[in-house]
Amino acid sequence: RRQEPGVLVLAGQQQEAQRVLDEFREACATPLEKLEKVVDSMVLEMEAGLAAEDGCLLKMLPSFVENLPKGTERGIYYALDLGGTNFRVLRAVFGGPGEGCMQESEIFTIPHDLMVGESDDLFDFIASKLRDFVLRETENKSPPPGRKRELGFTFSFPVMQTSVASGTLIHWSKGFKVAGTVGRDVVEVLREAISRQNLDMEVAALVNDTVGTLAGGRYINGDVMIAVILGTGTNACYVERAEAVPKWKGPPPKSGIHVINTEWGNFGSPTLPTTFADDDLDRESVNPSEHIFEKMMSGMYLGDLVRRVMLRLAKDAGYFGDSIPEKLTKKLALTTPDISKMHADDSPTLEVVGEILKKKLDLDPTRLEERRVVYSIIDIIARRGARLAAAAIVAVLRKIGRDGKSGNGTSKTVIAMDGGLYEHYTKFRDYLNEAFVDLLGEEAAKNVVIELSKDGSGIGAALLAACHSKYVRQFLT
Ligand code: BGC
Ligand code: MG
Repeated sequence: RRQEPGVLVLAGQQQEAQRVLDEFREACATPLEKLEKVVDSMVLEMEAGLAAEDGCLLKMLPSFVENLPKGTERGIYYALDLGGTNFRVLRAVFGGPGEGCMQESEIFTIPHDLMVGESDDLFDFIASKLRDFVLRETENKSPPPGRKRELGFTFSFPVMQTSVASGTLIHWSKGFKVAGTVGRDVVEVLREAISRQNLDMEVAALVNDTVGTLAGGRYINGDVMIAVILGTGTNACYVERAEAVPKWKGPPPKSGIHVINTEWGNFGSPTLPTTFADDDLDRESVNPSEHIFEKMMSGMYLGDLVRRVMLRLAKDAGYFGDSIPEKLTKKLALTTPDISKMHADDSPTLEVVGEILKKKLDLDPTRLEERRVVYSIIDIIARRGARLAAAAIVAVLRKIGRDGKSGNGTSKTVIAMDGGLYEHYTKFRDYLNEAFVDLLGEEAAKNVVIELSKDGSGIGAALLAACHSKYVRQFLT
């Protein structure tokens, strides 16, 4: 149990803590004018990324997807979905027009040592789970003679696509740092691993999770124009007019569109309200000075930002006890699910906040003032992240003239959204929706719907495998 300091000492600490907190709140502020500037600067960066091959913050990567699902797809297709924390193997049976689809899937946690190990070890692990999954199926699911099973590979990292079924990894993100994959064609890497498992399978599509989510959304709703991921990491893709991509060197797409993977996680701008906590987190991350935007707002980082501000209070204000609590110095001791639970605590004495601080950081007991301060830090960080996410979505809407301000205000636009942060963190979602309406205005906001599409990226990849199957004659969208 902690020694309680004297009354005067406590009062001094509280005052100092309040000062640090006020300063932090000020630095994180996102009034509407500021958000508008973020939107403007992001639209400019999107344009730059569509014009230049290289050297831009937003990579704006063409996905080479020619056909988006129409709901008429038919056949059995597989998907591998490698995300931030999990990976999933899936088999989907598409029934054709009006028949919908059935799916079976299995989910695995990626062991941490594989996230920071060697390329072949990670891909052997993935391919072996795929083999186990496929071998369990009964005879009648094997492909007709002369055909191989076809797979869509959802790979949730920045990839420079070279065709719909090939592309080189630009860099890892979200805590992955696997040696030997950057610069290689990830489909080639996967193919080799699959053949080491003696499995005969064709990789028909390589897609970012945003592109998979867009495809999954399109299967049910033709108005889906944008897909957003707010999970461990964050990103968006959208449907762009072919003429709006000056850097495109290939033949003009017959469909007249490009699906563009923005990789907005790597956005950065002097308009962003960054603080000491962001700088520290970035410096100590596995990918310093990359994905600055993602580090301000995605599930992998929000909890750790809160911890860093608490640590500052412990150091500068002697807060949380007379020595610096050990756990407060440990990376990821506090996770985003933790702060989400604390943020949902509406009891006057903040009991849940106290319990989690005790369980996760060994802070025991905490005084009510301390719990209140922690709650405020959480609120500041989650609100900032959610408002920045809203600004980013509005930037994409503005880019395609769907923000209700460019004379296109009446057509419906649907955004397919996936990711645990949006799905499970209620206060974050509420703040996002609020900022969204602030930025667009009530009227325009009515024409934009955000639809939760849980795990759409796996089924989307299977659909894109169907849409780009080499055994099926394709009809263009
Ligand atoms: C990756 C993106 C991905 C996003 C969401 C980011 O870290 O760079 O490719 O779409 O996370 O999973
Ligand atoms: Mg995912």
